[in-house]
Amino acid sequence: MTAVVDVTGLPPMDVPGRLERLRAGFPAAGLDALLVSELTNVRYLTGFTGSAGVLVVAGDTATLVTDGRYATQAPAQLAAAGVDALVEIAPADQHPAVAAALGGARRLGLEAGAVTWAQQRAYAERFAGVELVPTTELVELLRLRKDDGEIARIAAAAGVTDVAVAEILPMLLDGATELDVAAELDHRMRRLGASGSAFETIVAAGPNGALPHARPSARPVAAGDLVVIDVGATVDGYRSDMTRTYVVGEPTAAQRRHLDVVTEAQAAGVAAVAPGVPARDVDTACREVIDAAGWGAAFVHGTGHGVGLDIHEGPRVAATSAATLDIGHVVTVEPGVYLPGTGGVRVEDTVVVTAGGRRPLTLASKDPIAR
Ligand code: ZN
Ligand code: ZN
Repeated sequence: MTAVVDVTGLPPMDVPGRLERLRAGFPAAGLDALLVSELTNVRYLTGFTGSAGVLVVAGDTATLVTDGRYATQAPAQLAAAGVDALVEIAPADQHPAVAAALGGARRLGLEAGAVTWAQQRAYAERFAGVELVPTTELVELLRLRKDDGEIARIAAAAGVTDVAVAEILPMLLDGATELDVAAELDHRMRRLGASGSAFETIVAAGPNGALPHARPSARPVAAGDLVVIDVGATVDGYRSDMTRTYVVGEPTAAQRRHLDVVTEAQAAGVAAVAPGVPARDVDTACREVIDAAGWGAAFVHGTGHGVGLDIHEGPRVAATSAATLDIGHVVTVEPGVYLPGTGGVRVEDTVVVTAGGRRPLTLASKDPIAR
């Protein structure tokens, strides 16, 4: 099969506008400045992809404080993203550089979910006179709505996944082990232009498929198995997430029903995705089909999650989710039915919420017969 996935020439993202949108939320959060220490959020706001650094977003300046390893990379990445921010290269103790970047800020937000106890104590000691304010999800809320450039990256990652899955299907008929199949998928995704897998690839055959988050094992895929493959790629930081379940050989009547029920549930969930819809309604749409088949207790996880720079981000798609879907949200719909001792079936797509409803980004065939 000839692979044609365009992972280059992707449209630009509106990175520069993100800092202003973040600052617009400062008054409501009671902040003069925010110390962004979650690296994924630093990347989102600046384009910087290094493994260490913090971003100080003050009233009208932004300063990335990082170390000497990134003296060349950091300014280049910020410039490429069109972001107007300073770069300070600091030695091991970065507190003075951060303090200087605060300007006159009196109330400094910390990302409560990303700062350790020890870091918080150090900030309190070193930034005397500055009130530390715990914040939650200020940047994550901005990240919910993807712009066209972000959606193009997720779609490219999904395209890589589609092709890689199609290419490895013959392995299921050749007695390859779960580990073989997973390794081949990962390799092919890189060859197709992904920077890597979006998460640890799942290949779970036979009874192993009854574990929703099984790790690939040395078990060979055998005739008659149901095989759950849950896989995604990363392109320019953005991820895709897709699950298909295959049967090796002709399905039994029981396998056919198992596959049909989950496929129908998944389609009902996808059809429920639209702007203004409570995310929990998508979960309900899937669950109704599975409940009617008598397998409600075997659908043991939520229906889906947001996908973007992180493989699991907002909005959650679950019975307990308070989120409402909006244009530009990217979510998965992934119901599953897990029958211990027998196997599992899960079907998952990554979809973007559009004005007209939704558009699936993962497009691999749902034909469950491996051939
Ligand atoms: Zn998945
Ligand atoms: Zn998922």
